[in-house]
Amino acid sequence: MKTIDKIYINGEFVTPKGTEYFNLISPTTNEKLGKVLLGNTEDTQNAINAAKTAFKTFSKTSINERIQFLKNIKAAIEKRKDEFINVVTEEYGGTFQFASNSFIYMQKSFDSAIELLNTYDFTKTMGESEVQMTPIGVVGIIIPWNSSNGFICSKLSTAIAAGCTVVIKPSEMSAQQTQLITECLHEAKLPKGVFNIVNGLGEVVGSEISRNPDVAKISFTGSTTVGKIIAKEAVNTMKRVTLELGGKSPNIILDDADLPKAIPLAVIAAFMNSGQACIAGTRLLIPESKLEETKTIIKEVISNTIVGDPKNPNTAVGPMVSAKQFNRVQDYIQIGINEGAEVLTGGLGKPEGLEKGNFVKPTVFVNVNNKMRIAQEEIFGPVLSIITYKTEEEAIEIANDTNYGLQAYVSSANQERAHRIASQINAGRVQINGIGHDTMAPFGGFKQSGIGREFGVLGLEAYLEPKALIQQK
Ligand code: NAD
Repeated sequence: MKTIDKIYINGEFVTPKGTEYFNLISPTTNEKLGKVLLGNTEDTQNAINAAKTAFKTFSKTSINERIQFLKNIKAAIEKRKDEFINVVTEEYGGTFQFASNSFIYMQKSFDSAIELLNTYDFTKTMGESEVQMTPIGVVGIIIPWNSSNGFICSKLSTAIAAGCTVVIKPSEMSAQQTQLITECLHEAKLPKGVFNIVNGLGEVVGSEISRNPDVAKISFTGSTTVGKIIAKEAVNTMKRVTLELGGKSPNIILDDADLPKAIPLAVIAAFMNSGQACIAGTRLLIPESKLEETKTIIKEVISNTIVGDPKNPNTAVGPMVSAKQFNRVQDYIQIGINEGAEVLTGGLGKPEGLEKGNFVKPTVFVNVNNKMRIAQEEIFGPVLSIITYKTEEEAIEIANDTNYGLQAYVSSANQERAHRIASQINAGRVQINGIGHDTMAPFGGFKQSGIGREFGVLGLEAYLEPKALIQQK
């Protein structure tokens, strides 16, 4: 049983002033793994003050110094790769495959931040002015449970590249993952106060970060609901916000697509991270004429999909992070049934033999209308809706008929055709004929999937303020 009773402020592990504990529960067995002592408002203010003081000198560090810090962190993380993978499977129930990919994402975040520092011009000429791209200040980083250390790395690496200092508020459910990365960051010997990490509740620690006038920017990943609360708080002190929010990604399979290839990929896209992914392709758009063939292939793929122990490298779908999340997904399956959708695979209840954990049967609905709640709302579990269409135009219309716009997928035998369709979808990223991640390209959402972009030049500039110097001669 682990007790995590330290937070990290000003280069030291310190005991929080908060006195409340949060229990860490195994998603696989629902047994208690340990507990974490939560920080309070005073702890958060102390962390912000440390970041504010550190900013005065850190904002003036040279590009080479920042590159060295990024390399130090990456090296410290790489030494503990197996522990990172293990803690994700244990604490969060992420599959071994997901945890391994997540580790690569962490490494790549530092590589792309270093590449940006090697290529980005922090002083530009615009018109007749010199434009200095200056670090924005103290950044509040607020993140969810579904890829905790991945998000810490992507946001922290960019903040450091920009010369900003940070206060990080992870999900309280990710305390063991947080502890591990904090030890690595400590080992990387960054100047005191550059990064501070406060475990705690959103309404306490997250709220203080959103309100505090000494925080210049919030980089948030999480639900659209909480994103709106944070944006409302942030506007009072005119904080900059980057919001990476929810999604309901469409996956358009065109009538010329190679179904035996496209459908298994669609299942991976839908059930990645056991469906607990903002970019999951949860609406599968199929030409009406291809429905029967799709159903046959999907049933076959799901029957070969291993659900169970996340530590098993062959497992494709692990448990939901918490009993609460399990119940939420069950509620949505019931909603789908009530709405008249037909369960093709899966359905209510736990898979046989997995009753102890928060396991959901991979569920595919057919006879889904895009107006149904299961097609419009983010479920965040292994639930896929198949929606049919008659024409390309209708497919695009359905794809765009959502409040979200984070990611989309298109499959076609004709690359030019797929590209043409992709260009008409309102989403921040469209995956064409496969699934990839480009850490030098911007990532973020249209519509209620967010504000701003991460990664690449646009991601870096979200941590910078342009200052124009107009000098009369
Ligand atoms: P959440 O919005 O409930 O919580 C995210 C973080 O915000 C947590 O650390 C939480 O403690 C904190 N928080 C909660 N209330 C707060 C408040 N009032 N003020 C400040 N902070 C507060 O999200 P979750 O359930 O942890 O994660 C799942 C959600 O994250 C899904 O909606 C998913 O789509 C989204 N997500 C988006 C992306 C993306 O890149 N767009 C990536 C992953 C997850």
